[in-house]
Amino acid sequence: MKIPYGRQHITDEDIAAVTETLRSDFLTQGPKVTEFEEAFAKYVDAPYAVSVNNATAGLHLAAKALGVKPGQKVIVTPLTFAASANCIRYCGGDVDFCDIDPDTYLMDLDKLEQKLQAALAGTYAGVVVVDFAGYPHDMERVRSIADRYGLWIIEDACHAPGAWWTDSKDVRQLTGNSRHADCTVFSFHPVKHIATGEGGMVTTANPEILEKLRLYRTHGITRDPDKLTHCDGGWYYEMQDLGFNYRLTDIQAALGISQLKRADAGIMRRQQIAEKYDKAFAGIPQIRTPHRAENLLHAFHLYVIQVPDRKEVYDRLREAGVLAQVHYAPLHLMPYYRQFGWAEGSLPVVEDYYANCLSLPMFPTLTDEEQNYVIETLKKCFA
Ligand SMILES: *Cc1c(COP(=O)(O)O)cnc(C)c1O
Repeated sequence: MKIPYGRQHITDEDIAAVTETLRSDFLTQGPKVTEFEEAFAKYVDAPYAVSVNNATAGLHLAAKALGVKPGQKVIVTPLTFAASANCIRYCGGDVDFCDIDPDTYLMDLDKLEQKLQAALAGTYAGVVVVDFAGYPHDMERVRSIADRYGLWIIEDACHAPGAWWTDSKDVRQLTGNSRHADCTVFSFHPVKHIATGEGGMVTTANPEILEKLRLYRTHGITRDPDKLTHCDGGWYYEMQDLGFNYRLTDIQAALGISQLKRADAGIMRRQQIAEKYDKAFAGIPQIRTPHRAENLLHAFHLYVIQVPDRKEVYDRLREAGVLAQVHYAPLHLMPYYRQFGWAEGSLPVVEDYYANCLSLPMFPTLTDEEQNYVIETLKKCFA
């Protein structure tokens, strides 16, 4: 038996949807892409959604659309996949990391405020927050801090499609609805909630940002008659800025549309799995289970526990076929980011977290039998 920490789920309907698209007139960006964008925007309650060929490209487009330039400083959480910070570097910006909250593992917003207070006005251009493991940020608070210091916000919600939190007026806010963030970015990599092979989405409520995202996604080229400087004829288009080819294909979008129909069922199944783990480990003092809060829905991309002797536990689980993972080695300690002066001790909370964290198998098609096996195998490590 081999049980991975995450696994995609492809049904016959998914395959039929892709096959149908292969027989259609469009392979690259076409009507399925538009349909997927509209369906996804509806799913997360966002005004606009722009699909991209992966979330890394989406983060890059968001950073470029928000005007990141060489020399600008942006604050990023160190507990994330590299792309959340790299997007700033792609635009020549500088990354400053802010340590995490020891309970939620999200960026510590008190520390963020302290950092901003201590800096000269105008030092920072923006902030990249991540809904780590699927735990949604209180974006109302992030927005209020950002507004006080004139920052834009990119929310990397690659772990959190389908999550929600509750604002101060007791209104439910879907993660990625972009009422508070300037751009929210999602990934459709196979280990994430919705799989399209490679793929991603950027949501926004700002029409100007929307236009830039679309322009930069396709080489900076427009055919829109209203935007051309002049028109030489029906063939004419203009490259108005330096963009990229970051388009999703209709083949992938067809898969995405089909997968999206099962997204809510997947989230509910993830809740069940999390609750079962919570209960199973409640009596074991060595295992610290994820922080739970009222008034929010954790999307549980990951179920992260904290254990002593993590390396030994990891190895023993592997030997038994339980392929637990570690998310993540802190970004500031990667050789690439160390060159900017980061070292052990720079961010003690995330470094402590990293010493003990372990992601257990968590995906909707995990069977009860498999989960029982994971639980029993882990319990044996502490017997
Ligand atoms: C997966 C992931 C990404 C990158 O997604 P791709 O679609 O593989 O480019 C970025 N940020 C976070 C937090 C992720 O988990």
